Amino acid sequence: MQRYSAFAVAREALRHHRGWGRAWGAPEPKAHYDTVIVGAGGHGLATAYWLGKRFGIRDVAVIEKGWLGGGNTGRNTTIIRSNYLQDPSAAIYEKSRALYETMSQDINYNVMFSPRGVMMLAQTEHEVRGYRRTAQANALQGVETQFISPRRVKELCPILNIDGPRYPVLGALWQPRGGTARHDAVAWGYARACSDMGMDVIQQCEVTAVRSEAGQVTGIETTRGTIGCGRLGIVVAGHSGVLADMAGFRLPIESVALQALVSEPIKPCMDVVVMANTVHGYMSQSDKGEMVIGGGADGYNNYTQRGSFHHIEETVRALVETFPMISRLKMLRQWGGIVDMTGDRSPIISRTPLGGCYINCGWGTGGFKAIPGSGWAMAELMAKGASPLAEAFTLDRFRQGRFIDESVAAGVAH
Ligand SMILES: Cc1cc2nc3c(=O)[nH]c(=O)nc-3n(C[C@H](O)[C@H](O)[C@H](O)COP(=O)(O)OP(=O)(O)OC[C@H]3O[C@@H](n4cnc5c(N)ncnc54)[C@H](O)[C@@H]3O)c2cc1C
Repeated sequence: MQRYSAFAVAREALRHHRGWGRAWGAPEPKAHYDTVIVGAGGHGLATAYWLGKRFGIRDVAVIEKGWLGGGNTGRNTTIIRSNYLQDPSAAIYEKSRALYETMSQDINYNVMFSPRGVMMLAQTEHEVRGYRRTAQANALQGVETQFISPRRVKELCPILNIDGPRYPVLGALWQPRGGTARHDAVAWGYARACSDMGMDVIQQCEVTAVRSEAGQVTGIETTRGTIGCGRLGIVVAGHSGVLADMAGFRLPIESVALQALVSEPIKPCMDVVVMANTVHGYMSQSDKGEMVIGGGADGYNNYTQRGSFHHIEETVRALVETFPMISRLKMLRQWGGIVDMTGDRSPIISRTPLGGCYINCGWGTGGFKAIPGSGWAMAELMAKGASPLAEAFTLDRFRQGRFIDESVAAGVAH
């Protein structure tokens, strides 16, 4: 693999940038692979990456019906944090956040991880109690967070109106090493690393059926032919129910549209991420200067990858209340993604009723932050049959009533 470095950039500048090779291949599908991963979003690619890196399993294909990161991975608002309440969640999200710290070096691809700090505003007494509790839980879990005063909130983010008319700011849960990363780069960087390990990342190839014999997966049907495999990983976020149906089992998942919007670019005015769960909106500023804004998910199921108008209106209203200065901004673009929601707002990383078939889904509105850790756990599960990070997130927890309730941590989409 061609190494990216300051020296390589300088060398190529002298050669008019004619010496760069392809970052990843465009292979034809083979007839059989040891392992097939469906879905070239961040989670699917990270799974393939760790399969190769940690377990030496390199006879792997990642099959994608569209383009790399064209699902939620390339549509999200890129917030990374690990301030969850329950122990299994804190473990996997913190593992993931820690992996983001060194990801650019690990995969030799600049993912622009920016640990600028994330604050979740407390705007009701109920939220104050909830976030104080989370801060205590995080202290026990080894996750660095603290509950901060309104004065500190204002110091960290001067454009915030802490004396709002309906919900004044009463404090915030602050995670100083939370932040953002460049979403496309995460998908591209992993694809490049997988390709370099000899794996096939195959785009424009839709999986249309799952093949099995005597309760064991044997392969998949795709729009580019049949592909045999010994192990199958389904990592398709909002389309998890569709793939599960092909594999002959049902999931406790609802697929709904979640949308985001960005403003015109402006001068730097905000160097932290702010989430306002009570009024239901959140905002950060991108490196280009756009204000990146997200709100809630639609209340009905669909697969359209489009948002509805009332959410834009509600989100902007919430944000104008919290940041009055944005009332003078023009909004540039709006888009949607289809997220996979579980009842307890926690993911599923699990074996399935079909032998050799594994599923990773249910990250809902907040799985970008989990990409490296989720791939780490899913790869371990597929390679060894079990993973400590994944063991609480099995499919059968819904039958057994072992819910991992993260509805407060996932209160606003992020
Ligand atoms: C607007 C929005 C904002 C968000 N903001 C945040 C945030 O700030 N922070 C955060 O942590 N998370 C956020 N999320 C959630 C996050 O984006 C997702 O949880 C995460 O990207 C899921 O990644 P994935 O790899 O599982 O899925 P995806 O990136 O959706 O990848 C799944 C892939 O599977 C492919 N696929 C589907 N069906 C098939 C098939 N039959 N055959 C082949 N391929 C198939 C799709 O084309 C897709 O590329 C947000 C999501 C949205 C929509």
